[in-house]
Amino acid sequence: MQDAVVAGVSNWLENNVEIPAAELTLRHKNGKDVCVFSNHVLFTNTYKSKQFYCIDVDLAEIKKTQAKLTLNEHMLAAAFESIPDLFFLMNEEGVINHYHASDEKNLYLSPKKFIGKPLAEFLPSDIASKFRENINKAMVERTMISFEYELNLPSGASFFEARISYLAEYKQLVTIIRDITEQHKTAKIIRHHAYYDTLTSLPNRFLALDRLSQLLNEAQRKNEKTAVLFLDLDDFKKVNDTLGHEVGDKILKESAHRLNQVVRKEDTVGRLGGDEFIVILRGISEGGNALTITKNLLNAFRDPFKIDGRELILTLSIGIAIYPDNGTESTDLLRNADLAMYQAKALGRNTYSFFTQKMNTTMIRRLAVEEQMHGAIERNEFEVYYQPQIDLRNNSIIGAEALLRWKNPALGNITPDEFIPIAEHTGLIVPIGHFVVKEALDFLSQWQKSQQTNYIMAVNLSPRQFRETELLNFVKNSLDEANITANCLELEITEGVLMVGQSYIDDALQGLTEMGVNLSMDDFGTGYSSLSYLRQYEFDVLKIDRSFIQGITENKADLSLVKATISMAHSLGLTVVAEGVETKEQVALLTELNCDYLQGYYFSKPSQGKELIAYSLTYNL
Ligand code: C2E
Ligand code: CA
Ligand code: CA
Repeated sequence: MQDAVVAGVSNWLENNVEIPAAELTLRHKNGKDVCVFSNHVLFTNTYKSKQFYCIDVDLAEIKKTQAKLTLNEHMLAAAFESIPDLFFLMNEEGVINHYHASDEKNLYLSPKKFIGKPLAEFLPSDIASKFRENINKAMVERTMISFEYELNLPSGASFFEARISYLAEYKQLVTIIRDITEQHKTAKIIRHHAYYDTLTSLPNRFLALDRLSQLLNEAQRKNEKTAVLFLDLDDFKKVNDTLGHEVGDKILKESAHRLNQVVRKEDTVGRLGGDEFIVILRGISEGGNALTITKNLLNAFRDPFKIDGRELILTLSIGIAIYPDNGTESTDLLRNADLAMYQAKALGRNTYSFFTQKMNTTMIRRLAVEEQMHGAIERNEFEVYYQPQIDLRNNSIIGAEALLRWKNPALGNITPDEFIPIAEHTGLIVPIGHFVVKEALDFLSQWQKSQQTNYIMAVNLSPRQFRETELLNFVKNSLDEANITANCLELEITEGVLMVGQSYIDDALQGLTEMGVNLSMDDFGTGYSSLSYLRQYEFDVLKIDRSFIQGITENKADLSLVKATISMAHSLGLTVVAEGVETKEQVALLTELNCDYLQGYYFSKPSQGKELIAYSLTYNL
C-alpha cells in the first residue's frame, strides 16, 4: 500500500494525474484493518513550494449506520408487502408523492391518476375535504389521526379507515388506508339485531322509542303534533296457546306487514314486544288524520288471516296519545297511549280510544290502591261483613253472604268493586280470599252455636283463586278447623270463572262438589247466562243479579226474564236467590214468582258479625 501511495504521488507531481478519492482499507497501528475514505489534495503554498495533504476519514461509524438503515429499509419493505393496507406519503398540501400498495389491482385509481396530484383532484369533494380537515388536525396536534370514509366503488359501497401521521421535520404525512368494509357489514348486522325485531324486522322497542324522541324534538321545532298509537292484538294469547307458537309467529309477521301497508312513508311502525305494536304518526293536525289512519289500521285486520290453510279472524285495540296535548316525553306518551288502549279493550275490543286525563287519574288511583293493599291483611285493615238471606215461606234467615270491607288509613273506605279486580290482577286475592274463608267460617261456627241453627255461609270466589292448586285442601282444612259441615258452605262464582275453560277449574269444581260444598252461580243474567254451564256443572244455587231485581216492578221485560229464570232454574233443580231486594213491592212480586230466598237492603245491609247475630235473634222471634 505504501508503495502504491508513493507511486501515485510521483505520478501526480510529474504527470499531473490526480489520485482519485476512494474507500481504502488501511491497517491501524493496533494491527486492525480500518476502512477509510481517502482524499488527497496538492497545492502550491505562498512560498511557491508544493504541498501535499492526505485526509483519511474513518468510515467505521458511517458503515454501522448504513448497515442499520438497510435493515430498516428491508423490514419496512417486508411489512409493506405483507400488509394489505395502502400507504401514501404526501406533502402538507396533500399532494401524493409516494405510495405503496401490496396489490395494485385493488386500487380505486391507477397510480398515474394520483401520483403528484393533490387529493382534491381525484377524490370526491366531500371525502377530499374530510382528508384536508384531518391532515390539518394531524399537523396541528402532532399525533396520529384516524377517521373513516365511504367510497362508492363499482363493486358497491366500501368503507375505509385512514390514519395520518405527520413527519414534521420532513414536512410529509404518512397515510395508511385500510379497507374496513367487512368489519362494517358485521357491525351493521349486530346493530340490526340490537335495533330491529328478528321476527317481524320492525324497529324494536328501543329503536322505536328512540325515533319517537327524535320526532318529538322535530315536532317541537316545527310546532307540530305527533300521535303515538299503542296497538294490542285482541285475544292473541288464546290463539298462541291453542294453535301454537308457530301460528302465533306467522300472525305477528302478517300483522306487522298489514300495519306497515296502512301508514304513510314518514310514519314508524315498531314492535314493543309480544303482541304489542307502536305506530308513530308525525305532523298530524288536531288528531283528525290520526283518527283516519287509526280506522284504516283497524280495517287492515278485517280480512281473515290465512295461515296453514286456516282462516283466523283477529282484531286490534288501539290507544292514542297526542303530543303535546297528552305529554311531551316519549315515555309519558307511550304510557298514556297504553292506558287508552286498555280503555279500548274495556269498550269491547276491536276499537280505539283517545287518551283522556281521567284515565290518568284512574291509573294513579289504581297504583295507590295496589300499593296500600300490600300488607293490609297484616295491618288488620280487612273486615268481613255479612248480609242475611231470607226464606219468606217460613220467614226465617237461612244464612248470609260474606262481603269483604277494607278500611285503609291513607285511602279511607275502598269498595270491593274497586279493590277486588286489582287484587285479582296482582294475585293478592289468594291470601285475601283465604282470610275471608277463615273469618267467615269462624263466624259461622259462632253464629250456628249461638242460635242452634245450621245457617249457610256464602263466600265469593274469584277466578284467580281457582288457579291455586291448594284450593281444595285449603277449603277442607278450613272446614275442619272451624268444625263446620261442608254443606253449610256455599261458594259463589261468576260465569267468568267457567269461561276460562281450563281443566283445572273443572277439577276444582268437581272436587268441591264431591266434598259436599254447595256451588252458587252469582250475578246470573249479566254475562252470557249460558244454560249449558248450569247443566255441565253441579250448581245448587242460582243468584239473579241485582240489576234485574231492581227492574221487575217497573219493567215488563225484566219481570218476564226473572220469571223465566226462576222456572228454568227450578226445572234444573236449583234454588233461586234474588239479590238486591230493596222494596216491599219487589218482595211481594218475588214471593209470587216463587223465588226461594231473598237478599237485600230491604232486610239488612251487610253488617258486622255481632250485628247479624243481634238481627237474627230479633228476626227469628
Ligand atoms: P256480589 O257478589 O254481587 O255482592 C252483592 C253486592 O250487592 C254487595 O256489594 C252488596 O253489598 C250489594 N247489595 C246487597 N244488597 C243490596 C241492595 O239491596 N241494594 C244495593 N244497591 N246493593 C246491594 P259489595 O259488598 O260492595 O260487593 C261488591 C262485589 O265485590 C260483590 O258483588 C263481589 O263480586 C265482590 N266481593 C265482595 N266481597 C268479596 C270477597 O270476599 N271475595 C271476592 N272474590 N269478591 C268479593
Ligand atoms: Ca256474591
Ligand atoms: Ca252478585
